[in-house]
Amino acid sequence: MTSQSLIFAPSNSSMTLTHKIQMVDLGSQYRRIQEDIQTGFDEVFQTCAFVNGPPVKRFCKALAEYLGANTVIPCGNGTDALQLALMALDLDQGDEVLVPSFTFVATAEVIALLGLTPVFVDIDPKTFNMDADALRKAIGPRSKCIIPVHLYGQVCDMEAIMNIAKEHNLYVIEDNAQAIGADYTFADGSTKKAGTIGHIGCTSFYPSKNLGCYGDGGAIFANCPHLAEKLTQLANHGQKVKYTSDLVGVNSRMDSFQGVVLGAKLPHLDRYIYARRQAAKFYDQAFQGFELLNLPYRATYSTHVFHQYTLLLDDRLDRDALGDFLRSKEIPNMIYYPIPCHQQKAYAHYPQVHGGLPVTDHHAKQVISLPMHTELRVDQLKYISETVLEGVDKQLATA
Ligand SMILES: *Cc1c(COP(=O)(O)O)cnc(C)c1O
Repeated sequence: MTSQSLIFAPSNSSMTLTHKIQMVDLGSQYRRIQEDIQTGFDEVFQTCAFVNGPPVKRFCKALAEYLGANTVIPCGNGTDALQLALMALDLDQGDEVLVPSFTFVATAEVIALLGLTPVFVDIDPKTFNMDADALRKAIGPRSKCIIPVHLYGQVCDMEAIMNIAKEHNLYVIEDNAQAIGADYTFADGSTKKAGTIGHIGCTSFYPSKNLGCYGDGGAIFANCPHLAEKLTQLANHGQKVKYTSDLVGVNSRMDSFQGVVLGAKLPHLDRYIYARRQAAKFYDQAFQGFELLNLPYRATYSTHVFHQYTLLLDDRLDRDALGDFLRSKEIPNMIYYPIPCHQQKAYAHYPQVHGGLPVTDHHAKQVISLPMHTELRVDQLKYISETVLEGVDKQLATA
């Protein structure tokens, strides 16, 4: 058994620091890029350009190139990115925005905050992403926009969603907080990066995301120059010219230290994704053939960047009991998301689609996410997967 990280050479840190299994291990990752970050931070102190400074501009340019997007606009966080995207579309109060309920609440929150109406759409049982047929059925006369969420790191069926959007004249804002770097393949064989397919793409650089900074950060991608200009203006108090507000905007910007961190990490993103895929492959092989465990499904049209490795447990298994068992063995695990948006107190009053959201309701009870990050070691993966199987066995024995 090896104690090495899957792709990187062991870091210089002592074993005890990295030994404890973590859901996300940012400390070990930091120690590998420490020098670049320290140098960049020093530069920020030297120039004192603390907000939207040169490191932020350099990073946005590099990210635009990586994604093949015309413009990347920095902002304060992923939630702001989504809010700004909606603000740029000139929607009217009460207009409807179609969104999955099985997502982080931020996606629905910004819709409600702007006086728009979220219409929650059910998910595909295999991909956990917005279901194209359910989407089609949820469209009404006031529908104006769709926000697909690329949950856990796999892109939604964007070609189907874009076709529906075109048919009904709807905007598409991609919530790409979890799938940065993932590739989508169209029927004609062409590919695009997640977040660059809809009219606007949004992402979060929250520390635990696949491309995370050391605080809050977010970005908006736009190909249309007019939209890009408007988004930039909205994020800066509606100003194009200083002290001249033509629009009611907000204050949402990225500080230069975060630009340094992201600039240092972006060149490693593909290797980070590779490490996550290797960890997922290990889990897959360990769980292969256990019919009570549904492994993460891989859609043909998308690559998976494994923001999360999420198992869907068979109904015969008690998900929460398995989570407790793993915790008792010092294996952290999480439920993304235990209460879907349409069941939240704050959102329950919005009109429900006919037939409800049976897949969302079901999956929220049976999903469990295992530790997933760039620093997982083979011995850790082995211990985690063996313990998962032990927990499953234990439940079967007492059933
Ligand atoms: C993290 C996340 C957000 C919000 O990003 P913040 O930077 O925390 O505001 C929005 N949507 C999804 C799907 C997310 O995972």
